[in-house]
Amino acid sequence: MTKRLKVAEILRTEPLNTTVQVKGWVKAFRNNQFLALNDGSTSTNLQVVVDFENTDSAIIDRIKFGAAIRAQGTLIESQGKGQKVELKATEIEIYGDCNPEEFPLQPKKQTLEFLREHAHLRFRTNTFAAVFRLRHKLAFAIHKFFEDRGFVYLHTPVITASDAEGAGEMFRVTTLPMDNPPRTESGEVDFSQDFFKRSTNLTVSGQLEAELGAMALGEVYTFGPTFRAENSNTTRHLAEFWMIEPEVAFNDLQDNMDLAENMLRYVIQFALEHCADDLKILEDRLIEEEKSKPQDQRSDMSLTEKLRFVVENEFVRLTYTEAIDILKNSTPNKKGKFQYPVEGWGTDLQSEHERYLVEKHFKKPVILTNYPAEIKAFYMRQDEPKEGVPGPTVSAMDILFPGIGEIVGGSQREERYDKLVRRMHEMHIPEEELSWYLDTRRFGTCPHAGFGLGFERLVLFVTGMTNIRDVIAFPRYPGSAEF
Ligand code: ATP
Ligand code: MN
Repeated sequence: MTKRLKVAEILRTEPLNTTVQVKGWVKAFRNNQFLALNDGSTSTNLQVVVDFENTDSAIIDRIKFGAAIRAQGTLIESQGKGQKVELKATEIEIYGDCNPEEFPLQPKKQTLEFLREHAHLRFRTNTFAAVFRLRHKLAFAIHKFFEDRGFVYLHTPVITASDAEGAGEMFRVTTLPMDNPPRTESGEVDFSQDFFKRSTNLTVSGQLEAELGAMALGEVYTFGPTFRAENSNTTRHLAEFWMIEPEVAFNDLQDNMDLAENMLRYVIQFALEHCADDLKILEDRLIEEEKSKPQDQRSDMSLTEKLRFVVENEFVRLTYTEAIDILKNSTPNKKGKFQYPVEGWGTDLQSEHERYLVEKHFKKPVILTNYPAEIKAFYMRQDEPKEGVPGPTVSAMDILFPGIGEIVGGSQREERYDKLVRRMHEMHIPEEELSWYLDTRRFGTCPHAGFGLGFERLVLFVTGMTNIRDVIAFPRYPGSAEF
């Protein structure tokens, strides 16, 4: 039996003049002779030269774009240009025909919108195959980054009874009959009769549970799906997305920023080193896409230049208060060009403001820190009052990326029991429900910090895609949960 080799293996080792067998899908077939075969192991196709004089014409007729086949023959140095080796086939077997009249994909450029509607088939395009190979490599790089630094990968629950942010927007999990749920005497739905004997939902973040782990294991991270029922029809939001959440005992805000920045640099560098072929495909795609934009909206850097720029340059770090000053005095604000004018200290930044800071003012990734307590979550550490800062702030940090906006949100956590409880009361977060969380502050509490990195926003940045729905295989967003 001749061994089956993957196309990537063949191109890596080039075992010339050996008999090999490859299996894959037809990408192109011209002159009844030159067949481009791809098996997903690499973006590069293998040229298979079909011996059309000695191959059954019924077989030749079935070699169509998209068909699954097996080819066997001798690997030789390529006669044509464009590839170093080619397979001189002596045997072709068809596994699965692909009727070009019915197959929705065509061997030509198709719009991303069209492909989103055919998401079950879009892996078969060069663009999406590259996106999903890159997504895999980035996930691997994240695990490697943490593994090399002694972190423990903690699997936090998908079904929880808590809401980490203290705000709604959760998907409920229940087995109660929807049409006629049991009711309490006062008429509310009686969740004590539900599966978990309480009301539960899909997690919006694994952070609170990760903090529990960090209080013994020291350095932990989660990497799992999170769910938000927010009705955000943007190119940056999904209802189901993956989040990486490290949590580190004894880290302060500075350590937290260093960890996040090092991690982002590491995984982007990893992609540059290990995914050159796929990045090339995506870089070319982006150049094509930008051709349809007016000159001033095109980026002045190519995709890989942009990635290298992030790896080689330190992120800018400044406080929210400093950022507000810059924004207030910015040209677009003075000329009334912002949709939301920057009024002053205390308001949340809109994505147009974040993008101005990153893309126009600093032209670099930015880490904003020490946000007003009012606009951040209850668990963030309260800062000492500071001169020139109008109100109370917390040790929060958001990392803003060009073209993306917020990619990371994190903070040093409030480790002081009294201050934490006071804040929970102020924000009307019931203490009883989070008694398990408060125990960390009652027994051996310590300074600690962590953050959440939205995985799809990272993949979006590295692949240069423009819509978050194109970097997750089966996107969930308002009105759509197909496949
Ligand atoms: P945004 O303001 O962009 O909605 P957020 O402040 O709600 O973000 P966090 O709750 O801090 O975000 O979540 C941490 C990270 O998770 C964000 O920095 C972002 O990368 C990612 N993220 C948040 N919401 C979504 C979403 N709906 N879809 C995809 N990624 C998300
Ligand atoms: Mn949000």
